[in-house]
Parts: sequence; structure tokens; C-alpha cells
Amino acid sequence: MNIHEYQAKALLRTYGAPVSDGRAVLNAADAKAAAGELDGPLWVVKAQIHAGGRGKGKFVEAEAGEKGGVRLAFSVEEAAQHAKQMLGQTLVTHQTGPAGKQVNRIYIEDGSDIETELYLALLVDRQTSRVSFVCSTEGGMDIEEVAANTPEKILSFSVDPACGYQAFHGRRVAFALGLKGAQVKQCVQLMGNLYRAFVEKDMEMLEINPLIVLEKTLDLKVLDAKVSFDGNAMYRHADIAELRDETEEDPKELAASKHDLNYIALDGEIGCMVNGAGLAMATMDIIKLYGAEPANFLDVGGGATKEKVTEAFKIITSDPNVKGILVNIFGGIMRCDVIAEGVIAAVKEVGLQVPLVVRLEGTNVELGKDIIKNSGLNVIAADDLKDGAQKIVKAVKG
Ligand code: GDP
Ligand code: MN
Repeated sequence: MNIHEYQAKALLRTYGAPVSDGRAVLNAADAKAAAGELDGPLWVVKAQIHAGGRGKGKFVEAEAGEKGGVRLAFSVEEAAQHAKQMLGQTLVTHQTGPAGKQVNRIYIEDGSDIETELYLALLVDRQTSRVSFVCSTEGGMDIEEVAANTPEKILSFSVDPACGYQAFHGRRVAFALGLKGAQVKQCVQLMGNLYRAFVEKDMEMLEINPLIVLEKTLDLKVLDAKVSFDGNAMYRHADIAELRDETEEDPKELAASKHDLNYIALDGEIGCMVNGAGLAMATMDIIKLYGAEPANFLDVGGGATKEKVTEAFKIITSDPNVKGILVNIFGGIMRCDVIAEGVIAAVKEVGLQVPLVVRLEGTNVELGKDIIKNSGLNVIAADDLKDGAQKIVKAVKG
């Protein structure tokens, strides 16, 4: 689960991380008052979307102006003007995809004078199964680009969970970032606080790009924060779960999560409804083998009810890219006749604009096939996985 920058900063502040004062606004009418509560003389007006690269992003609409999603302002009025221009408009960055994301929230922050921009991240390293620090002097830019062109400028190391965070970890980061004097102590403390936040809140990633050194004081400050959490741990973090912004999520994936369906939208033309993740993967593979592309991964689970099957159908058919549907269910614990009834009920409720191939196998399979055959609906029955895949690809591609 992802949260917005302003939410991440509020959370990190509770862990003692240095962040600027700021106000989040949902309406342009509130922007001026919000900016007025900050000291100035510099304000930063930042589009809040669940994607990075906002500064270099571009708005689709001309009304939003030429600038990107992170804008400097030198008066309260100018800050309010930027907020008004960006709210409701579509920001495209290298992380949003070409369709971009609508900006529904703006964060107005007290501006900082920057001496240096650094890069810092904590993440779960799958190779070591440990929390890793990643840092680089090349802050403020695309870290993927730094990794590709100058990998020697990135330091990464993991923390042994048996001893947890130790001051030497922080010093390692400090020296890699070229910090000196009082900054080293600050860094050791900040890294410890960030590590504690990461572990206590079950984060998956915590990226601070840039972590800055302030002009004049040379203190450290968290200037941007991108945080994602382990979705499976949200049951024990009610405070974090509350921060979820559903408008940032794919509506189909959101509906699926509400009905406990494992659904991931893809770019292809064949909608798949399958039970079991392994069978779902195999179904996607075989669709590709016969020359088409799956429109989604969907695992309705072992105990799919009629209601769940109907919901799954609704989600699949709401995708305009879907030109055909393949239902591939193995009735193990579930009986094929129950599944067949669910499919028929779903088709009757949702309607069917595209070809539908159903392959059933397992308990009560004959009964299930009869139910489909006698339904009077235009459903193509398939005998096995190969047959099902061939039939749906033929129905879609001709
Ligand atoms: P991102 O583009 O989505 O990663 O958004 P960031 O929050 O990282 O902002 C992008 C860039 O805007 C930063 O790398 C900075 O160069 C600049 N920026 C952000 N906040 C400030 C600020 O308070 N003062 C100044 N001078 N620049 C800022
Ligand atoms: Mn950034």
C-alpha cells in the first residue's frame, strides 16, 4: 500500500525526522490560507500523486501551465495560484504511464534553500531477506539512471536483524554521502529513526530523494518521501490503513480487493477467471502460447461463491480491452456444478458482449457441463486447458 508524500512526512516527523512545515489542501479555495500559515519567503507547491518524477512531469491540460508538479513560489498568492492550476488536472511522469494521474491533493511546504541533494532509501532486499540501506551522492535525479550509468556512486548494504540498527550503519551512510562534522551525528540518528519507522510500520520501501543538506546551517532535511507498506501487514496498522487513498488505485483492482479476489490488470485482450494462483499463471501462459495476451490475472480462490464469481465477471467485463473471456476452473474442494451455476448467474446478471469459453474439471464435472449446455446461453464448452485456450484465442482472433 502506498501513501502520499505529505502523509509520509507526517509519519516520519513522529519518528523525529527533520521535515519542513507544510499543509495539505484538497480545494483551491483553501490554498491561500494554508500558504499563509507557513513562514516563507519561499513556498513549494507539490502535486500529491502516488508516483515519482513529479518535478519533471508535464500536465496534460494547458490550464495547468508549463511547469511540472513541483513548483516554487515567492508569495502566498503565487503559491495559491500554482495550487489552483494543478488541482483536478492530469500529471504525466515517467512513473504514471502515458495516461497520467489526476491531482486531487496539493501539499504546500515551507521552501528550503538547498546546498546538496542526496539519495537515501530503505527497502527489503529479497536476495538477503534483510532491510537494506541504499544511498548515493547523486540525489534529486532518477536513481535508476544512476544505477545504470554510474553504479559505483551507489552504496548499498543490509542490516543483520539479529543486532538491528547500529551506529556504524549510520556512519557508513554518512561517509558515503560525504557528510562531515555535526552532520555525521545527525545522520546516525536519522538513519536509526528511519530504520525504526521502517520496521515498526512494516514498510516495504522508504525512499528519500532528495535528502538535502541545507544552505547556511548545513543541517540534513527530508525533502521528499515515498513510502509503501506491506499490504498483508495492514491489519495491525489501523493508523496506516486509514491513509489509503482509493482514488489512486485502479478501480478494477480496488473492487477486486473489496471482494477478496486476487486481481491484477494487464494489457491483453483475453479476460481470465481462474481458481488458484498456479492455475491462473498456467492459463496466462497457454493463452500467450496460442498467440494472444491475457487481460488480467484473476484468482477467485478455492472457495469461490456464486457472489464472488459474479463480482469477478463484473470486473472482467468492465475492462474495455477484453475481447473474450476464458473461465478455467478446477473443482477440487469446490464442485463444478456450483461453479457452473455461478457462471450462468453472473452472465445473466452482467450480460455477455464477448465470447465466453468455459473449461471445468474436477468434482461433478459432468453435472457442471450439463448446466452450462442447458443454460441456453452462448457459452463455448472446452474439454481441457489446451482446448479452452485454443477456442478462446480462435473466438477472439478468428
Ligand atoms: P519528485 O520530482 O516527485 O521526486 O519531487 P521532489 O519532492 O523530489 O521534488 C523535485 C525537485 O524539486 C527536488 O529534487 C528539488 O530540486 C526541488 N525542490 C523540492 N522542494 C524544494 C525546496 O523546498 N526548495 C528548493 N529550492 N527546491 C525544491
Ligand atoms: Mn523526489
